[in-house]
Amino acid sequence: IKKIGVLTSGGDAPGMNAAIRAVVRTALSYGWEVVGVIDGYAGLHAGNFIQLTRRSVSDLLNRGGTFLGTARFPQFKDPKVREEAVEVMKQNGIDALVVIGGDGSYMGAKFISELGFPCIGLPGTIDNDIAGTDATIGFDTALNTAVEAIDKLRDTCSSHKRISVVEVMGHHCGDLAVCAAVSCGVEAVLVPEVKWDKDEIYASIKRSVDAGKRHAILVVCELQTDVHQMAKDLEALTGLEARATVQGHIQRGGTPSAVDRVLASRMGAYACELLKSGESGRCVALKRGELVHYDIIECINSMKHRFMKTTYDLACSLG
Ligand code: ADP
Repeated sequence: IKKIGVLTSGGDAPGMNAAIRAVVRTALSYGWEVVGVIDGYAGLHAGNFIQLTRRSVSDLLNRGGTFLGTARFPQFKDPKVREEAVEVMKQNGIDALVVIGGDGSYMGAKFISELGFPCIGLPGTIDNDIAGTDATIGFDTALNTAVEAIDKLRDTCSSHKRISVVEVMGHHCGDLAVCAAVSCGVEAVLVPEVKWDKDEIYASIKRSVDAGKRHAILVVCELQTDVHQMAKDLEALTGLEARATVQGHIQRGGTPSAVDRVLASRMGAYACELLKSGESGRCVALKRGELVHYDIIECINSMKHRFMKTTYDLACSLG
């Protein structure tokens, strides 16, 4: 290997910059050149590259988002477009690629490696929804953001005798909701992995309020229900004022937590180590504190992200 490319793709996540920095500095220490690809697979196809030096990644470790930019580029599902992108890399003397992104980005990386081009995937998403890894880059920061917001809502809820229905992100994965629920000691948590019944939830909140509880907080994973309607229903049922809060993309931004910076730095360096040892088509994961790597095709096709069942049970029994 003489020259590698690095790109971020799909939804941005805090810590992506730290991962890019680690990739760049590790690769340079091996004597490789590094180019950054602007705006994910769109930039890859367009040949939108910038040369990266040690200095190009200074002062980025603590910045959220991704300085390389990210984009949705559905055209990458077309095999012809992918072949063209690999050709563009070859023409630019790039002989390996590191992709930082979510499961959609992993699909792109899988296809690139199937074309015989060395490619390593790093899990970058706040949703924690990637198979095989205990944590993704960005999850811890997003969780801290969600927890901080819910703590603030609790203060005002308890002062005003209010019910708060809080929607957190996570897409089809309840990890963010479950961890926020345990961290904030909320009354109920609704996630896609566990069947829930609206009437049961409402009845239990009503019981708590009737028993004298001054406030209640419900954490709801996005795409589960209309939280505004839920707040209206609960207000009508309990007589307490109820408000819905959708945290939205606030959870995607912000300075990465120390946990995410360490994870991103480790994973970025590890991606280069894997390329150096001749690996390709692998994705990096954290397993019980150690970094491991899996076949990216196996990760996408046959591995499943494990739901945090015991943590969910804890949220229910303690909340
Ligand atoms: P994430 O990586 O966060 O899951 P997306 O699902 O939007 O985000 O995927 C990011 C990008 O990865 C897409 O815009 C597209 O360029 C590429 N991608 C997604 N799915 C595929 C696929 N099936 N084949 C090839 N490329 C894909």
